[in-house]
Amino acid sequence: MTSEERAAALEAIADEVRACTRCRLAEGRTKAVPGEGNPDTEVLFVGEGPGQHEDRQGRPFVGAAGSLLQELLAMIGWRREDVFITNVVKCRPPNNRDPEPDEIAACGPYLRRQLEVLDPALLVTLGRFSLQTFMPGDRISRVHGTARPIDPATGARAATGYALYHPAAALRQGSLKETMQRDMAAVPEVLIRARAERAAAETTTAGRASNEAPAATDPTSTDASPAPDQPKDGPMTDSEDQYGLF
Ligand code: URA
Ligand code: SF4
Repeated sequence: MTSEERAAALEAIADEVRACTRCRLAEGRTKAVPGEGNPDTEVLFVGEGPGQHEDRQGRPFVGAAGSLLQELLAMIGWRREDVFITNVVKCRPPNNRDPEPDEIAACGPYLRRQLEVLDPALLVTLGRFSLQTFMPGDRISRVHGTARPIDPATGARAATGYALYHPAAALRQGSLKETMQRDMAAVPEVLIRARAERAAAETTTAGRASNEAPAATDPTSTDASPAPDQPKDGPMTDSEDQYGLF
């Protein structure tokens, strides 16, 4: 997919989300919040669901939790527009209650399709609902700051998952902020490992495909994605290139 095709595909999903009435959360929302970011990014952040500010503006992480997320990203030299940010449910649960399992299930196809389009190398979960969606069975207090492969059935074809606490949790419990800073500081290194694992998986897949009947291989699959280390906006220094997003 080209950059333009990815942007158009994401916008088409966003249009469906804005008109969606698949679950009861449609009733109380002001605006649905499809998510936003760079269509060419390697990194996706997935939160829980819109809060009051997000519901008013139709944009993810624009309230206090969003400010903290932005501050944490700035710590590693990233901006929110470099990544893609979305949520497990796209409409605000009344009074910020937890999303219910049937609401998460109803909204799931939008997230899956976003993942299929973005094909991220790294998926960062924010909070326990996102963690449960991508790395089920683990407690956030045990696995925050750790990485593991994501099940391709989620739509993320070859991604590493990395668990963070939810920024709102750090706003409620100040001691978690330092933990989040430590966990976020490791994200660039985790991205580098995620890239390497993808590259290794790709080689394995290519090796396997070549042993199969030629008709089973997809001739378009090898040139589908741009070189991940290609700087987007002109040359970068070595260290920026190593830790940067492009
Ligand atoms: N909390 C979330 O989980 N998502 C948002 O978009 C904002 C706050
Ligand atoms: Fe549709 Fe998701 Fe909003 Fe429910 S939360 S109405 S499934 S967009």
